[in-house]
Amino acid sequence: MDDTSNLRSRARNTHSATGGAPARHAFATRAIHHGHDPYGDDGALNPPVHLSATYTFPTVEEGAARFAGEAPGYLYSRVGNPTTCLLEARLADLEGGEAALVTASGMGAIAALMWTLLAPGDELIADQTLYGCTYSYFTHGLARFGVRVTFLDLSDPTRLAAALGPRTRAVFFETPANPNMRLVDIEAIAAITRRRGVRTVVDNTYCTPYLQRPLELGADFVVHSATKYLGGHGDLLAGAVIGPRDALDEIRATGLKDMTGAVLSSQDAYLVLRGLKTLALRMQRHSENALALAEWLAAQDDIAAVHYPGLASFPQVALARRQMSLPGGMLAFELSGGRDAGRRFIDALRLIARAVSLGEAESLAQHPASMTHSTYTEAQRRVHGIGEGLVRISAGLEDRGDLLDDVARALSRARAEPQPRNIR
Ligand SMILES: *Cc1c(COP(=O)(O)O)cnc(C)c1O
Repeated sequence: MDDTSNLRSRARNTHSATGGAPARHAFATRAIHHGHDPYGDDGALNPPVHLSATYTFPTVEEGAARFAGEAPGYLYSRVGNPTTCLLEARLADLEGGEAALVTASGMGAIAALMWTLLAPGDELIADQTLYGCTYSYFTHGLARFGVRVTFLDLSDPTRLAAALGPRTRAVFFETPANPNMRLVDIEAIAAITRRRGVRTVVDNTYCTPYLQRPLELGADFVVHSATKYLGGHGDLLAGAVIGPRDALDEIRATGLKDMTGAVLSSQDAYLVLRGLKTLALRMQRHSENALALAEWLAAQDDIAAVHYPGLASFPQVALARRQMSLPGGMLAFELSGGRDAGRRFIDALRLIARAVSLGEAESLAQHPASMTHSTYTEAQRRVHGIGEGLVRISAGLEDRGDLLDDVARALSRARAEPQPRNIR
């Protein structure tokens, strides 16, 4: 036995001190270790980044067996490479799914999944409040290829039971929804779809598996924009689909390999793996900061409403406690001064950055009525619970006192009468 194999068997033994099956490690441990053997790969504690586009076969026969799916091994990086496959194994483990597929962006993940699940004549039922590009992909992209898309308010599951038709193939939603933070009861929706053979897809970007694991509540697929909390540093775009192995094999072979080609680079896969190491710590801090901001804002007279699942006043607080382990880093609030007050508030921020996106170390603020949801009419925005004075904040990882100071100062500026433009 050489030194390396000694080390490897020693490493294995530490997992099974009691002699039985190794205990399953907790989330924070698996987010750092799952799928990588630090005693393999020349002892590299961090997984190597595999940059090869193509892979050799020892013989034609072996190559043919890999192409036929009869032998394991890599072919070409559009189908997978060791770095992206490690990220897939880790994400599947953290979400509690059989398998995962990583993609070049969140939109790449949603498109690869939908192009595989749906055919012309099929129906997709989606929640009415969605991330803007998902909404436009469903209404313009899928509809052009003969898929019927029906939008419903899925926060009331009884509406779904009445709406399912013979060609309904899938139900799609985000919880919490963007930007009004309305929740959807995953377990209640899945109980309805399961009986009818309809697939439930949950966009878990806002929560990450540290806060919420939809597959354990009965959903069939989870999708992510890994650009947000999973990567966690705003320096890459990435996406993922997690679900049953057979379905994921099909999505890889069709939706990803042949249809979208939205393949994640191994460099970015490595950065997501690095981000995952601190996911548990970061999600705790994001949640603490968001809660502090939400509580402070809720105590101000001229804030008409604060939407945050961690507040006792949140209308779906019981569902939030059942479904989410922490209330998360996203909050939205409505200034009673309407659109002008919302815009003045955001313009007066000094530390919190004016930007869309979320889940980064830096706190970000945006005004949905003039940014992410500006393509909606005012009447449509009302239907979606997006008021003219609504401000959305992604609470970052900065010091809580500094964030509260910035918000307090900006709010006092927003209260002031607008200054004539020539007096600064
Ligand atoms: C950002 C986002 C997406 C799209 O992801 P990209 O990585 O930007 O393509 C999808 N869903 C939600 C909830 C998002 O926030």
